[in-house]
Amino acid sequence: VSSIGQSLAAIVGASNVFEGAGIEERYRVDIMAKYVSTPGFVVRPGSTEEVAAVVKLAAQANLSITPLGGRTGVVGGGTAKDGAIVLSLERMNKVLEVDAASMTMTVEAGATLQATHESAEANGLFMPLDLGARGSATIGGNIATNAGGNRVLRWGMMRDMVLGLEAVLANGSVVSSLTKALKDNAGYNWKHLFIGSEGTLGVITRAVLRLRPLPVSSQTALVAMSSFETATALLRKMEAALGGRLSSFELMWSDFYDFSSEAQLAKRARPLPCGHALYALMESLGSEVAHDADLFAQTLEQAMSEGLASDVVIAQSDRERDNLWAVRDDLTEVLRPLRPLIAYDVSMALGDMPRFREETRAQILERFPQATTLYYGHAGDGNLHLVVGAGTGKDQTTEVDRMVYRVVEKYRGSVSGEHGIGKGKREYIGLTRSAQELALMQAIKTALDPHNLMNPGKVLP
Ligand SMILES: Cc1cc2nc3c(=O)[nH]c(=O)nc-3n(C[C@H](O)[C@H](O)[C@H](O)COP(=O)(O)OP(=O)(O)OC[C@H]3O[C@@H](n4cnc5c(N)ncnc54)[C@H](O)[C@@H]3O)c2cc1C
Repeated sequence: VSSIGQSLAAIVGASNVFEGAGIEERYRVDIMAKYVSTPGFVVRPGSTEEVAAVVKLAAQANLSITPLGGRTGVVGGGTAKDGAIVLSLERMNKVLEVDAASMTMTVEAGATLQATHESAEANGLFMPLDLGARGSATIGGNIATNAGGNRVLRWGMMRDMVLGLEAVLANGSVVSSLTKALKDNAGYNWKHLFIGSEGTLGVITRAVLRLRPLPVSSQTALVAMSSFETATALLRKMEAALGGRLSSFELMWSDFYDFSSEAQLAKRARPLPCGHALYALMESLGSEVAHDADLFAQTLEQAMSEGLASDVVIAQSDRERDNLWAVRDDLTEVLRPLRPLIAYDVSMALGDMPRFREETRAQILERFPQATTLYYGHAGDGNLHLVVGAGTGKDQTTEVDRMVYRVVEKYRGSVSGEHGIGKGKREYIGLTRSAQELALMQAIKTALDPHNLMNPGKVLP
């Protein structure tokens, strides 16, 4: 054990420090097996004080720190520099308090998203953020990436759910404002700097989250549509008719729907036939069981008669609901044959999506005629996913990246709708952020972390 290893052990206990060859693969290789690193140390502190002491020690030793949550990030943000420290929040995983009167929850950063769902529900409350990786992803990671997910349309992104925050700065000082108040205009609201900072400004240790009343009724439908225009008209109709209850509107182009439902045929029947231009998976969450179900069904019936929907299936049980969501969400096995695949998470004005799709698809298929392209996404909030697989090969990633991101730039979108920049998109951030914006980001980074010790090599070009 090195002298730094001994000093770290003195802070967090020997069983919570791993060094060199003793570091498990899960701390070295990311979830997509795309980013590999050789950290010098893994440290698992158990409290804010221990995090602060580790950060101070790292600063003295001039070692950088990469905070790590549930490792579900997909842009390499949790990859440490070789020889540096991975600071895992996995032991700081408690839901500390649910305050039903204030409708808030205070949590440690390493609590999983699912744990917050369960604690909220046990108190008749609701934590609206939801995403496929809920069982592993942590609140600290969700805040650090400003996660989005399936219900942004109604409740916003993680930023909209954080009331109070505590973080350890690069110099080891603790900055804490664990307020439960929705309104706080006393000067700069510094917490927003940390939300979406991907570990580059400090370590998030605790947070106060805003909760909502627990919905008691849930309606889910899969709808087939003949064109993008009918899809946007249907989205607006559902939003207006359901009086704010529409919480998800996941759009799938036929390329995605046909491919995903085909790959799952062994497990479940295809919910609607292929052959339509687009499919939308929509969910409405409300408070009056019978009334909500009637309103949902009637609105969809009307949409059919107005030509906005070509075919509809409404889930009649939790099992049917899960089967509908599986087509959109259960993708690990579905996408496996396309490996090495390239996945994009871009955003743009909803109206620009069809042209974005046509242009990127034409360019990719002209250059790689064997490639498969699948388009889907949280389209209700302008977030589009594109998967390019097979027929391109790993070596062509940069070429495909450039094609896709130049079209994003043309439509003034963003190279990252929700996954963040991490390591993987650093060279493209300048396509959709101006030089002035990047200079401002760099000034903030330098002010908070002058020696570049917090997750270096991420976000900024
Ligand atoms: C199947 C699947 C589905 C997904 N769906 C979505 C989706 O719908 N929407 C979406 O937005 N994302 C989605 N993601 C991406 C991922 O789940 C999110 O980015 C999530 O917020 C990451 O949380 P984590 O705890 O796993 O963070 P990690 O992967 O451990 O870390 C992510 C970044 O945050 C930093 N970080 C982590 N914890 C802290 C902390 N305490 N303090 C400071 N920095 C920290 C890390 O350094 C790193 O840069 C999905 C991923 C998978 C695998």
